Order: sequence, then C-alpha cells, then structure tokens
Amino acid sequence: MSSCYREAVARELKRKTLATISAMIYLRRVHGMYHYRPNALPPNYEFNLEFHKPKQDRCDTCELYKMKKDDERYQRHVQGKQATKAERDRDRERVKSAPPANNVGTEHSGSNSGLEAVICFDLENVLSCPRANISNFFYKRKLSVYHLTAHCSIDKRGYGAVWCETTSGRSANDLASALVTILSMILQQHSAITKFVLWSDSCVAQNRNSVMSFALQDFMRSHSQLECIKQKFCEPGHSNIQEVDNIHSHIEKVLNVSDIYSPLGLMRALLKVTPKRPLSIRQMKGDDFKDYQEAARKLKYSVVPYSEVKHAVYKQGADYTILYRTSFDEQLQEVELQAVDICSAVSTRSSGRKKQKTPVACPAAMKTWPAAHLLHSKPKLSAEKKTDIKSMLKFMPAAS
Ligand SMILES: [Zn+2]
Repeated sequence: MSSCYREAVARELKRKTLATISAMIYLRRVHGMYHYRPNALPPNYEFNLEFHKPKQDRCDTCELYKMKKDDERYQRHVQGKQATKAERDRDRERVKSAPPANNVGTEHSGSNSGLEAVICFDLENVLSCPRANISNFFYKRKLSVYHLTAHCSIDKRGYGAVWCETTSGRSANDLASALVTILSMILQQHSAITKFVLWSDSCVAQNRNSVMSFALQDFMRSHSQLECIKQKFCEPGHSNIQEVDNIHSHIEKVLNVSDIYSPLGLMRALLKVTPKRPLSIRQMKGDDFKDYQEAARKLKYSVVPYSEVKHAVYKQGADYTILYRTSFDEQLQEVELQAVDICSAVSTRSSGRKKQKTPVACPAAMKTWPAAHLLHSKPKLSAEKKTDIKSMLKFMPAAS
C-alpha cells in the first residue's frame, strides 16, 4: 500500500468516525431515539448536519442590492463601508503601537507626553427592571434603565453611564450628557490624554447632531489639556465598534442568569461583568444632565450636513469652527459656526405689515460661548406603569 493511499484511507476513516459520532449525538440529543450499539450503526454516513452560523443583523442597503433594486446607492455604500473599515483599522493599529496603559497617562506616572484615546460608545438596548423568570412579570410594564457603554483603547476597559427613565430620557441631550460623564471618568483615570477619537454608530438623533457637537466643544473648553476631539461614524447598517458589542454581549449573558429587582441590583450585576477587568460605571444623577440643545441653538450648526458627516474634528481654541468630511476618502473642510444673535433673531426687519424673524450673525467681537444649563424637566412614570411595578413588589425579596 502506498503511503499516499494509506493517508487517504486514514482521512476517510476519520471523516466517517466524526460523522458517526456527530450523528449519534444529534439523534440522541435532538430526537432521543438512537442509543449507541456498536453493531447497529446507521447504514450511511451522510447526515444533514452543519455547524451553527451566528446570526447577524442584515443591512437594509445590502439586502436591497440582493433584490437588485438600487445599484448606484449600493456601490456608494460598499465604498463607504470599506473606507470606514480601513479608517477603523488604522485607528486600531495606531493605538496598538502606543505605549502600554500602566506606563503612561495615570496620575502616578508623571508623564506629560500626549496620549490619544480611541473610545467606542453605544447605547445598550433598554434594560428593564425588575427582571426574573416569574410569570407574573411577563406582561407587566417595567422601569426602563438606560446604559451608555464605552470602551477605552488605553486600558481596554469598559466604562458606563447608567440612569433610569425617572431621572431622564434618551434624547440627544441625555446621550451627550452621558458621553461627557464617561469622558470625564476616562480623563480622571488617564490625565495625560490630549486627543479623543470617538467612534459611534451614525444615528442622527443620538450621536450625529449639533447637540453632541456642542457638548464635545463645551467639554473641551473646560479641559484645557485636550488638543482635539474627533468624532467618527460607522457606515449605516455595519458596526465597526465590536469592542462595545462585545461588552454588551457579556452583559446580556450575566443578566440572563440573574434575578434583578431594582436599578441598584442592576448596577451590582453590571459590576460582575468581566470580573478580571470590571466595568467602571457611574450612576447618573439629575444634575449630570445639561440642556446642550438650547445652548447649541445659539450657534449656527446648520452649516454642517450632519446626516452625511463621517468625520468631525473639534480643536482647542477654535470654538467657532468645525472641520468635517462626508467620506474618509475626502479632505476635511472647515466651516464657521457664526453665532446667531438671538436678540436680532426675534425682532427687527419688517416687510409690509408683518415683522419677520431673521437670524443675524453677530460681529466677531460680540461672540460669547453659550452656557449649557441644567435640564430641569424631570420625566414622570405613567400611572399604569406605577401600578404595574407596585403589583410586582410582592414577588420581590426585601433586600434587593
Ligand atoms: Zn450594507
């Protein structure tokens, strides 16, 4: 027998043995009908078995292309997807070659060298309280808890800001306030950071808007060590922030096997996620939320086409300018956020008998950076939700 033939026979035997074992496991586990008997193997080895492929959300644009409905848009989408991936990979590589976290950036290191932090962030799906496998809970309205999760490239740790629907909602103001809180936490840990690169999905309502731009510029004004903050956005339908997706999947695993009756219990459970490198979490209070939206109205953010922006840059000392581009293949362009003079916007110019409200740009000397005040409106639980939560109390342990 030639060695070639022997190898072929060995390969075939291995394949058949594996197929047989898989079949036995399959039949026993799934149908409970096959018991191992050495002399009674099934007559053939071809079974309808395959490895489970993980499910993935399918992107609308890619799906439309499969239906051959929108070719041009699809080409642009694919180009954007590839350019975004390349940009994300470049950021990852740059971070990899940076010095390790325990040598720079901590308060004890005494290092003054500039440090770049790449932060990915995303709002987790609403977490509801209470959560336990009690059938009474199933159809009841529950308390919604929001969790903005971030991953920091310097210490490879997860950071989070948690708040309940009774503290605030999940509007652009709330997301911007939560992100500012997380950036402050990261800066406390790594005081040598001079640049932030923020990656997020391209949701216009939450991340890609004037409220977030103003909040980041405002944050930079109060942290003079920061040179710039860059915002980069994933291609719609495709996530490039796998680091955060990974944290969310760990959280889901822990929550699926935990009984949680209160936001405090939820915080405790979140701290158990990734025990080797626990999440650094802050519970947001009422005065952590600011009305950035109101302040942003005083600047002319309308010059930025937010629904197309892929990359925005805010620089220290250049409060009234933003650099942006709508594709990672283009050059950044600079735009001026001329301050809108609110006084002249509400009175002045009359045409005919009606007075028109015309926004008028102030002269440069009159520019003052608008202040972001606290958000005063505190949301309330609906009466129905209150009743439902009260009705579940009898199933909850006293200390939870
Ligand atoms: Zn797609």
